[in-house]
Amino acid sequence: MAKPIVAIVGRPNVGKSTLFNRISGGRVAIVEDQPGVTRDRIYRDAQWLDRPFTLIDTGGLELGDYENPFSDVVRKQAQLAIEEADLVLFVVDGKNGLTAEDEKIADILRRTQKPVLLVVNKIEDFSKNQYMEFYALGLGDPIPVSASHGMNTGDLLDMVVAALPEIEEDYAPDVIKIAIIGRPNVGKSSLTNAMLGQERVIVSDIPGTTRDAIDTPFERDGKHYVVIDTAGMRRRGKVEEAIERYSVMRSLRAVDRSDVVLMVIDAVEGVTEQDKKIAGYAHEGGKGCILVLNKWDLVQKDDKTMQRYDKVIRSELGFMQYAPTMYVSAKTGQRLPKILEIVDFVSEQTNRRISTSILNELLADIVRVTPPPTDKGRKLKIYYATQASVKPPTFVLFVNDEELFHFSYRRHIQNRFRETFGFEGSPIRFIIRQRE
Ligand code: GDP
Ligand code: GDP
Repeated sequence: MAKPIVAIVGRPNVGKSTLFNRISGGRVAIVEDQPGVTRDRIYRDAQWLDRPFTLIDTGGLELGDYENPFSDVVRKQAQLAIEEADLVLFVVDGKNGLTAEDEKIADILRRTQKPVLLVVNKIEDFSKNQYMEFYALGLGDPIPVSASHGMNTGDLLDMVVAALPEIEEDYAPDVIKIAIIGRPNVGKSSLTNAMLGQERVIVSDIPGTTRDAIDTPFERDGKHYVVIDTAGMRRRGKVEEAIERYSVMRSLRAVDRSDVVLMVIDAVEGVTEQDKKIAGYAHEGGKGCILVLNKWDLVQKDDKTMQRYDKVIRSELGFMQYAPTMYVSAKTGQRLPKILEIVDFVSEQTNRRISTSILNELLADIVRVTPPPTDKGRKLKIYYATQASVKPPTFVLFVNDEELFHFSYRRHIQNRFRETFGFEGSPIRFIIRQRE
């Protein structure tokens, strides 16, 4: 099931990022340890009562040109949240009281069908009923919290979870869902159109309740695929283009719903900081990923160019050593038919299962060749490994003491798993469990 998106909006300084950290804090990342992931501080996965969701702090979205007055930026945040999120947390400042800007935001939020929760922050004394004036915003009962002290935030989360919509998956399990993501102008829509225009591709109407009317289902050689739309591909309209270009939410949602991500990079411009962040979505989301270097027709080439590019990309996107690279041109069609072959391959890798006996043979071999480290006279013991899930392949390692399982030895085991099993294009994850 796809994860719903919860957007936090509100004026500057009301405590959005404090609330963001409070709600998403404490969650342990179990993604394969690789240095160099540029973490995007504005979104994070959170979970409450077994219900996962993605939390976004819209205060961190780069929506301004700074010449604009603040209110304009905040208005854009609110608009974007209404259009892209499944639930809006509207945060106001209970210490400062109601302001004209709060009223403007509320005007926008009242027009949506989406659930909105009105959060009155900085309430440390619940006996004072400080928050009553916020009823005037016409957004239902104000929910008093103190984000910095963690007061009443559990109740808030109960309400969040109760208000989250169920997001149904639309497609049969054998349909491979492809998200095409990347910065504006790298050629995502050209690539989509060129792929769908190939002669062996049949754009089809797979039955299914289309939650998102802009998905494009198609078929090749009897196999079914769906291209999931991302920022600015075919829909231009309600939201201004300037906002749309920064639609982190749409990219995240597309990644979340996908099986395989085509991360499109402009071969002329190379890997940018923004590319690293966007690639990070696929990595942290545990999705299969292919690095598609587009506009290859514009690059001056000799017989070493591709190797040189590969080397640079590997060093820039260090956390994605596993992702295959492809050099294509949406304009000339170069190597486009090959993309779906690689998509099939990567999709298989994300679904691979390794038997427990083979895993434990490998583990025994690793431990024999490179014995685990000793720390203060105590030795790490790894008892047992088993694969807990696929998409992405996730392994549980049972050990005597987590503390003894140092980063370098974890890395060593990861690397040996990769060397042995490949999993090209797929992230892999490890969960460490302590046993006496
Ligand atoms: P944002 O601009 O909306 O993201 O606001 P911040 O999260 O950066 O918080 C703005 C200021 O309010 C900071 O100085 C916080 O320490 C403070 N603050 C945030 N939450 C609370 C709270 O629950 N109680 C109090 N007293 N201060 C808070
Ligand atoms: P998007 O914003 O990522 O969807 O990018 P577009 O598909 O709109 O492409 C941006 C610009 O790059 C357009 O002017 C395209 O014609 C151009 N473009 C896209 N792919 C290629 C390519 O492979 N080669 C060349 N030369 N131009 C391309």
